[in-house]
Amino acid sequence: MRVEVCMHVALMVAGMLLVLVTIASAQEPFAVGPVRATPGTTASGTLAVPARGADPGTTIPISVIHGTKPGPVLALTAGVHGVEYPPILALQRMRASIDPRTLAGTVIMVHVANMPSYLARTIYYSPADGKNLNRVFPGNPEGTLSERIADVITRQVIDRSTHVIDLHCGDGNESLRPYSYWITTGSPQVAEAGKQMALAFGLDHIIVDRERPTDPKASIYLSNTGVTRGKPALTIESGGMARTDHESIAQIENGIAGVLKLLKMRPDGPDPVSAPILLEHSEVVRSNFTGIFQAAVEKGHTVAKGTLLGRVFDFDGTLLEEIRASFAGEVLYVVGTPPMTKGEPVAFIGSTMRR
Ligand SMILES: [Zn+2]
Repeated sequence: MRVEVCMHVALMVAGMLLVLVTIASAQEPFAVGPVRATPGTTASGTLAVPARGADPGTTIPISVIHGTKPGPVLALTAGVHGVEYPPILALQRMRASIDPRTLAGTVIMVHVANMPSYLARTIYYSPADGKNLNRVFPGNPEGTLSERIADVITRQVIDRSTHVIDLHCGDGNESLRPYSYWITTGSPQVAEAGKQMALAFGLDHIIVDRERPTDPKASIYLSNTGVTRGKPALTIESGGMARTDHESIAQIENGIAGVLKLLKMRPDGPDPVSAPILLEHSEVVRSNFTGIFQAAVEKGHTVAKGTLLGRVFDFDGTLLEEIRASFAGEVLYVVGTPPMTKGEPVAFIGSTMRR
């Protein structure tokens, strides 16, 4: 009899504990605009960028992967530049491979940030307004289409997140070796957390980026919009030349898995990069002429000061300019197609030597 009473009490206590644990770990649904995910589920849909004047607006396809346990909210953005395909394809794969039933926290995926540019296959600039989406953050709800896209991403995605990774690659004309940007200009805690994210992402070349603006109202870049709002953020580059190669896509998947482990959103994942190469100085080299560009180096090449990077010719074949490296370093990307406009990049050089 006494044993039975004890059993009853024990079962009651166990039951109450179970209820308490369930209440403590239960998450509310997570909604980003009209896309609402209940705990343990993944939901997809679109954010609307409303029409304004003559321009018809656009849509931004997103997914919300909402875990059963509380944790960070990680925003992953792809397609800020419309011809950068490996990030877009990596997110398609990650949407299927991140299990919301075992995830702690929430992942917000922006599958294609810049739909006008993606559909028109334009590099750098939007066909709608001629602007570079990654130069107009935090955006403007009253502005041009690129500025309105930036505003929707800032308010509905970045403001809802605790951490941000903006996924890029070489644009359709850029032959690029993989690297990430570690932004150092946030608060010390945000800068340190950003460094840990860069290491966890696993790309061994990390640009130490000391020159991003600190005004949240003029953050300019997507990831810097996170940093200026106190959220650790990272920009990564993997792939280029409009290719959809497996290696570039896999490096992005691996990197996201590493950050999910760092943030304790998943228990397992790849280890951080063991021997990072910190690029303390980097410079975009630009053309002084419009014409036909021919590269003289390849991505990943080591160059000395004065090494010929490429030549710009007039349309009749007359040599206009020989472009040379102004310091010794490594070619992070070089333009791989002929079109060249005065003032635009021909190459990006990084060095481990700080200036
Ligand atoms: Zn880009």
